[in-house]
Amino acid sequence: ASGSEDNDVVVIGGGPGGYVAAIKAAQLGLKTTCIEKRGTLGGTCLNVGCIPSKALLHSSHMYHEAQHSFASHGVKLSSVEVDLPAMMAQKDKAVGNLTRGIEGLFKKNKVTYVKGYGKFVSPTEVSVDTLDGGNTVVNGKNIIVATGSDVKSLPGITIDEKRIVSSTGALALSEIPKRLVVIGAGYIGLEMGSVWGRLGSQVTVVEFASDIVPTMDGEVRKQFQRMLEKQKMKFMLKTKVAGVDTSGDGVKLTLEPASGGDQTTLEADVVLVSAGRTPFAAGLGLDKIGVETDKMGRILVNEKFATNVPSVYAIGDVIPGPMLAHKAEEDGVACVEFIAGKHGHVDYDKVPGVVYTHPEVAYVGKTEEQVKELGIEYRVGKFPFLANSRAKAIDDADGIVKIVADKETDKILGVHIMAPNAGELIHEAVLAINYGAASEDIARVCHAHPTMSEALKEAAMATYDKPIHI
Ligand code: FAD
Repeated sequence: ASGSEDNDVVVIGGGPGGYVAAIKAAQLGLKTTCIEKRGTLGGTCLNVGCIPSKALLHSSHMYHEAQHSFASHGVKLSSVEVDLPAMMAQKDKAVGNLTRGIEGLFKKNKVTYVKGYGKFVSPTEVSVDTLDGGNTVVNGKNIIVATGSDVKSLPGITIDEKRIVSSTGALALSEIPKRLVVIGAGYIGLEMGSVWGRLGSQVTVVEFASDIVPTMDGEVRKQFQRMLEKQKMKFMLKTKVAGVDTSGDGVKLTLEPASGGDQTTLEADVVLVSAGRTPFAAGLGLDKIGVETDKMGRILVNEKFATNVPSVYAIGDVIPGPMLAHKAEEDGVACVEFIAGKHGHVDYDKVPGVVYTHPEVAYVGKTEEQVKELGIEYRVGKFPFLANSRAKAIDDADGIVKIVADKETDKILGVHIMAPNAGELIHEAVLAINYGAASEDIARVCHAHPTMSEALKEAAMATYDKPIHI
């Protein structure tokens, strides 16, 4: 139905990049259609990523607290048990409400929504095989590719979403596995490992590199790994998975040192492959219209999100940059602003990263290692949550704030927080870094007491002077 009329903007993909771009375009007065093949909006993030994982992280944390922390707070329970179907139902309810919410936003903003698989016929025409079995051609003066990313498998490992699962399968297991092996110590593996570990699985994380979460500040990472180990997560770093055997009851993994050497075996009931994600543009026909991609299959764009083909733009996980939902959203807004003749801007160096374990780890800007490598003279200010009154009051005080600032100008270069709610705390630092603040700027701002945020203020004091409470 939408096919016969010309759109100003057609967005292929209804994830955080695509649906935000579509809404923003409509708000700017552009006639907009969004094409999504999944049947629901919200993309990876809402359907099988950010949202269901945070739902399960919260539910499993509650169970863990009930088992291990309630009693010390004077809350006694005679017994605690997991009702996995109920936990999954709560997760599904959250996802369903949110995806339907976006459909509501499309209606409110008059974005036309076409359910189906889009492929380029020309740089201004997209043919859509609709989910109801039909076909329609959608025209647009501008087309934004927001097709996102997909799970990356490893050579020789076939994901069956039962015993060998991707994050998608790990979000929907029907039983708590006794032994879970996680391949890849990135944030997705650690978050899903935390969920199942709290519910009772023995979790072993196998990682080829020498460190977990490579983007994290080294000092914070070490403390973080210790915290996870205290939670009984086991790590096998610098270890390669050489083979996987599913012929028996469970899964038998053959491991070897990353640098070569003797093989060992490890048994699991479920194996989660979380070794990264790969841009998704299958069946889109990019080569047909001559859109350039790099070796990794990412669509190449300029600072205005324009590809080499006039009228075709790309945003989100399918282009280079951090593969994060909030980055995709920023891309979407900026891209549409350029299309509308306005100015947009996204600074990938100031995109925060958060690992939603307990405690959470959140960071923005540069790590101490990066600053050192750049040869910048710097100062470090730290403050532990053990000295923060709110964290002590609630007896959840494992964590630290670390600030890296320019030695001469005191300008903040990076902030790294490990704390129960670090993902919320980080935004004061994100704002500060975006406005070029010095650590003294944060230190001289009045922070409410008693709050965890005071730890950031004290770390800022420690950067250029002395903190009060330690
Ligand atoms: P996507 O969300 O992948 O959306 C692309 C959409 O395009 C999909 O719905 C797909 O069906 C559709 N599509 C593709 N091709 C076509 C086509 N030809 N025609 C029609 N439709 C098409 N990020 C965070 O920031 N925070 C988190 O906590 C977080 N947690 C995550 C947890 C997990 C388990 C996973 C897997 C990811 C997580 N992410 C998180 C990453 C986040 O999900 C992605 O960065 C984000 O979804 C990217 O948005 P996008 O719009 O670029 O692509």
